[in-house]
Amino acid sequence: MNEIRVEKLYTVLQGDFSIDEYKEACSQLKELSLEYRSLKNGENINTGEKVEKPSQIYAKEHRVFVNKCLSPFPKRGERKNVYIKWVDMSSIIDGGCDGTEIHLDVMTPQMLLTDYYFYLNNADWFDGERNINRRETEIFYKPWYYAFDQNEKTVFNEKIVSKLKRKVNDEYEWFEAEIYTEGKNVENEVEGNLSFCASKFEIREIFLEVKGKVQNKDLQKAIDEVDDVPNSSQISKMTTGGSAGFPDNVGCNSKAYVYNVGQANCIYIYLKNFTGADIKVFFDAGQPLPFFENGISTNTDLKGTTAVTENIDKLSHFKPDIIIISHWHYDHMMGLLTLGDWAYEAIKYKKKNNCQWIAPVPDHDAWGKYRRLLNYLIIRKKICFVDFNTSQTNSGKVWENKNKNVIIYQGNKWEAKDLNCSSLILKIKDTVFAGDCLYQYWPDELKNNINDIQNLVVPHHACELDTSNEGVLNLKTNFSNGKAIICSGYNTYSHPNNDHINLLKQKFLFVETTGGAANSNKFERININ
Ligand SMILES: [Zn+2]
Repeated sequence: MNEIRVEKLYTVLQGDFSIDEYKEACSQLKELSLEYRSLKNGENINTGEKVEKPSQIYAKEHRVFVNKCLSPFPKRGERKNVYIKWVDMSSIIDGGCDGTEIHLDVMTPQMLLTDYYFYLNNADWFDGERNINRRETEIFYKPWYYAFDQNEKTVFNEKIVSKLKRKVNDEYEWFEAEIYTEGKNVENEVEGNLSFCASKFEIREIFLEVKGKVQNKDLQKAIDEVDDVPNSSQISKMTTGGSAGFPDNVGCNSKAYVYNVGQANCIYIYLKNFTGADIKVFFDAGQPLPFFENGISTNTDLKGTTAVTENIDKLSHFKPDIIIISHWHYDHMMGLLTLGDWAYEAIKYKKKNNCQWIAPVPDHDAWGKYRRLLNYLIIRKKICFVDFNTSQTNSGKVWENKNKNVIIYQGNKWEAKDLNCSSLILKIKDTVFAGDCLYQYWPDELKNNINDIQNLVVPHHACELDTSNEGVLNLKTNFSNGKAIICSGYNTYSHPNNDHINLLKQKFLFVETTGGAANSNKFERININ
């Protein structure tokens, strides 16, 4: 039955790209993965010629997969068919956006096919039988990211935008479009950046001509199917039992590195257990926004080579055991899309690790923007979600280890347009990583024990406080010899706020800011005691 569905999709896609080329790439992948496996097992088949290393074969496979099975960028002179959908970034961006910027979800026909195979074989919510062909594309299947965003050359075309922004049944619709490298000056053309990420980010300038809505019913159905997500009863929720990947007890010499990623959070923790081994934890890995002004990105942290760009580029080398996303804002999770195979357990590391992801249940817009990442992690059973209602019945405490020196909390207010108030908070011994959860939304247990806090990664980039916030911070009567670290760089929100900083200075010996391009320091270090 599935074969019929796939054959139908082939027919539908026939005009949009070369199916034969795709099939050829698939058989190439099959051969390469056999070669990879035999080399890994130490079988030396290739006696005469120079023998390649497994890593070289792997790199070759990856190139075939990306270039032929995803095919994100048009070649010079090529007109590439794609499918596009408007993305509303207003609740995904910390502080929101005015909605006039152009952000599109994009899909090539190759991606549609690769997604389709993957979901057909693996997704419970995808209607169909399992165990069909094209397992070879799955070996490399990683939650890549692919999107169109406006840049400084974009001319805002109200006619196109209003067309794309029209909702049907409360959802934006998929359109057909063409992308190409040289402009033609036609009516429905818009110029901007095409971003693609399968471990590292690549951004290229392209032109995009919007055609009409997707016309073919079968094509529309296939797109809707891969665009679909599981319902909330199908996703696994965090429970109080289990290890969540953390050790029962945390030993001495644990350290946290708060990376300078500009106006974003990226924290990497080396947690010592009692055998001296490290458990490595990401608590957020975000990227700063471009911050547009009249369509021009003003963010100096991202221009040229800075401590910020160098840190972002290096993320793919990290091998975390646990990844916690405090909340679904761009500046706290976008860097996770650049992580290497380790985090996703692709071919190389299969069965060697079990990187565990923890995050709040995503809201509607986060599902839209990060659908492929979320679906992948759910299918691979790598993510546990924190349910707000459950955490609140437990006074905001989500989970703790046996010795109660690692605790995950959740902020106590749910607001769709302000995910900060339900941000996760991580407490390890004397150190609190507050995500974007401001003090007044902290669970009572954390507020009541505020004097125990020696180190604090300051909530919400040290934004301006009001009396309710200050009141909580003033509960801290013990002066700490530790550090308060502010994650902040170039921004237009006036972060960090001076009054907030001064208040922190009365409570902590050191108050440091990661600083963005203005600071050449790569990170701030915390010794957890
Ligand atoms: Zn933030």
